[in-house]
Amino acid sequence: MKVLVINAGSSSLKYQLLDMDTEKVLAKGLAERIGIDGSNVSYQPAEGEKIVVEEPLKDHKDALDIIIEKLTDPKVGVIENIEEIDAVGHRTVHGGEEFAHSVLIDDAVIKTLEEVSELAPLHNPANLTGIRAMEEILPDVPQVAVFDTAFHQTMPEYAYMYALPYELYEDYHIRKYGFHGTSHHYVAIEAAKLLGKPLEDLKLITCHLGNGGSVTAVQNGKSVDTSMGFTPLAGIEMGTRSGDIDPSIVIYLQGKGYSAEEVSTILNNKSGAFGVSGISSDFRDLEDAAEKGNRRAKLALDIFDYRVRCTIGAYVAAMDGVDAIVFTGGIGENAPTTREGVCKGLSYLGLTIDPQANQVRGKNAVITTPDSKVKVLVIPTNEELMIARDTVELSEKK
Ligand code: ADP
Repeated sequence: MKVLVINAGSSSLKYQLLDMDTEKVLAKGLAERIGIDGSNVSYQPAEGEKIVVEEPLKDHKDALDIIIEKLTDPKVGVIENIEEIDAVGHRTVHGGEEFAHSVLIDDAVIKTLEEVSELAPLHNPANLTGIRAMEEILPDVPQVAVFDTAFHQTMPEYAYMYALPYELYEDYHIRKYGFHGTSHHYVAIEAAKLLGKPLEDLKLITCHLGNGGSVTAVQNGKSVDTSMGFTPLAGIEMGTRSGDIDPSIVIYLQGKGYSAEEVSTILNNKSGAFGVSGISSDFRDLEDAAEKGNRRAKLALDIFDYRVRCTIGAYVAAMDGVDAIVFTGGIGENAPTTREGVCKGLSYLGLTIDPQANQVRGKNAVITTPDSKVKVLVIPTNEELMIARDTVELSEKK
């Protein structure tokens, strides 16, 4: 069975075609600058050269037409015709409280997604554009929506409710939702395999550290708390996002004449590691600068390590213990110094990092010493595979 996985952003679209009999990627790529000058589509077959098509793309359908053309191309394609695509899985950011699991897309689901869009105005409309374009191209093929929020729908009420007037929850659905759920769920499953124990018996803390980052407490296979909140702005310091701040700062800045939009831009795009360092949001740049003695680059990295460590501490308390901590995402998978910095203050848990093992990048590994009571794991995430697995499961039920 072949599954096309689509991750549609407002001006970009990532895709992967997977053969789910072997769980291997047949081809993948990215369409960029959709609706903007200088748009292009990249196509990378599993075997063969990467191709970049530079063509104007007025919308997501234009991008998908080129992607299908490449996938079925007699020379560079990986399938003979479009009928070989058995199902399509869509990464969908916000499922609100309506979707605690992935769903087969039908008209009712689309209507609910439109309603939920208000909660994720930057993401859900783009996801819907991808769904509609795909429906036009492959009207008879099952399509599945896989939500970033779904895995966190198991949080207990006392973890997801904010201490705000209850009416704000009833009237506007203001609560913690959490994001990156597909990634946290995937690495939790892989962690259980690596530890050789049933997921249902484990207390895990999964740290997805990329441009956006979140930490999740996973008890017996279920998310019981997570650091992102009503939106993906909450929690730890991120590339350009502030993470948690005193909410009064927003009111104070507005009093100083900043508009709501300006405050939003500051918090989402000009804060985080970029805002503190004034250099870059990329941890590789910050590590280089810190090594050369740049004080603010070092501060940005120190804040990051400290925030992640404190969140881990909070989730040890939430679960009354922890068996393993998992690092994933671009930073979690590739930055030994950050992993070491985060774990430095966790020796009270009986956690000892093996400095040699911690040098690993981008593959599954245990990076603690054999006698370490709490294990620390590195597990590269694979959200596309998780989306494809759910897509297979649901489309077989159709
Ligand atoms: P996204 O959230 O956009 O999916 P990724 O998970 O790909 O992001 O993470 C991107 C980030 O990973 C980069 O901004 C960079 O800070 C970090 N990163 C990637 N490789 C390394 C590395 N070798 N060392 C340190 N940080 C790295």
